[in-house]
Amino acid sequence: IEVHICMGTAGVASGGYEVMEAFEQEFKKEGVPAILKERNCKVKATGCRGLCARDVLVDIHLPGMEPITYEHVTPEMVPAIVQEHIGNGQVVEKWAAKKDYYDFYKLQKRYVLKDCGKVDPEDIDDYIAHGGYEAIKKVLKEMTPEQVIEEVKKSGLRGRGGGGFPTGVKWGFCRASKGDLKYLICNADEGDPGAFMDRSIIEGNPHVVIEGMLIAAYAIGCREGYIYCRAEYPLAIKRVKKALRIAEERGFLGKNILGTDFEFHLHLKEGAGAFVCGEETALIASIEGERGMPRSRPPFPAVRGLWGKPTNVNNVETFANLPLIILDGADFYASMGTEKSKGTKIFALSGKVKSTGLVEVPMGITVRQLIFDVGGGIPKKRKFKAVQLGGPSGGCLPESLLDTPIDYDSLIAAGAMMGSGGVVVMDETNCMVNVAQFFLTFTQRESCGKCIPCRIGTKTMLDILNRITSGEGREGDIENLLDLAQDIKTASLCGLGQTAPNPVITTIKYFRDEYEAHIKNKK
Ligand code: SF4
Repeated sequence: IEVHICMGTAGVASGGYEVMEAFEQEFKKEGVPAILKERNCKVKATGCRGLCARDVLVDIHLPGMEPITYEHVTPEMVPAIVQEHIGNGQVVEKWAAKKDYYDFYKLQKRYVLKDCGKVDPEDIDDYIAHGGYEAIKKVLKEMTPEQVIEEVKKSGLRGRGGGGFPTGVKWGFCRASKGDLKYLICNADEGDPGAFMDRSIIEGNPHVVIEGMLIAAYAIGCREGYIYCRAEYPLAIKRVKKALRIAEERGFLGKNILGTDFEFHLHLKEGAGAFVCGEETALIASIEGERGMPRSRPPFPAVRGLWGKPTNVNNVETFANLPLIILDGADFYASMGTEKSKGTKIFALSGKVKSTGLVEVPMGITVRQLIFDVGGGIPKKRKFKAVQLGGPSGGCLPESLLDTPIDYDSLIAAGAMMGSGGVVVMDETNCMVNVAQFFLTFTQRESCGKCIPCRIGTKTMLDILNRITSGEGREGDIENLLDLAQDIKTASLCGLGQTAPNPVITTIKYFRDEYEAHIKNKK
């Protein structure tokens, strides 16, 4: 018998530790049916399973029965769940998850997240029991580095951090660079408002990221690596630290990995929380102890990166895909998704949607399916208005584009982008000028100031937006915004500036009447 308690950040914040303690106390109590003690009940903390809005989530696994999930569990509910469900096999229906909970998972294909919510993230043996570290064993035993790169190219995997560059091709550049010391970096500096994919993967299954990095390090020829994780993710950092220590003790990191001459040393670097450090050259500067500012390219990191050595950077989700590709094969992986966007994608669904949380869906499902079939639609019987895809650098899509397929190219054609996977849903009560103002306030504050178009341009755009939303908009403001947006996109040094105007451009394109109403009505 196993009791799984959701202990990602949302689960812990909702009282997960107290619920866990209540189960443990209940099993020790005098008068608890002897059968419970005989049944050897195990209480296990797991990572996020997706439906964060309903934490604390608890799964009860009884032999011969489908697991049953309870939502919003509090310590007070535990005695009844133990006595009635575990003791007598009677589900406590009033607290058990209903149809809408299971609907959340119907369209999902949880491959990368398959063990999140199942394994104990702090127990390497649990990861191994679920097939963990089998992929690196296979790679070291059966494949040359070139074969690994070919397999990843064949899978069609594209970088999940936002750029969408083919992962195997990127690895090939770094492998081809000269030098006996090369670095591998995992970008876990997720900083978009509304994005929590990478945090949830690390919190829920840190060993899958380490294993993915091992596969990449072997393929590229890296001996040293860093996980760059923002310091605002204390639970993720705690679990990564523990996972690194135990993986090294167990021979998965360090010298002579699994008895071979493959060597990989992996370190954790805590970032101070600047959004621009998600840009790989700024991230590299930050690890070197410099101010986190992007550098001009070329040279690209694959040629001259960390400490001047060839360096490959991928994000958390990209690494977490690799064990699946190695174990199930590139052909299987490429069978999911669309022609140019293969596999699945993890999204953080938030805003005005009934079931907020972490979802993994095959590439190619539509925005409508994501919001209405997975997310359950708009609460309070309100109307859908728009969705911001791709974080603050993405774009707002209106109702008329709800049937856009979710793949890299279709989203860009519609004016949005995949980004790292943040999805924020807006309803009819949202003012789209305020939404654009919110996102531009964020990117303007996070601009590192190195180049003038971004530093001064975003500030000027924000001044105009502030004027419009405070009822002081002028004729010509909309055109000025569009002109500035084009200049900033064209002339900025890095992706932050190049994409910062996107929310303004798309809200003007699809909701121009709201800008005009602010200016005309002076409010
Ligand atoms: Fe810094 Fe913005 Fe220039 Fe990027 S575009 S280097 S964030 S000022």
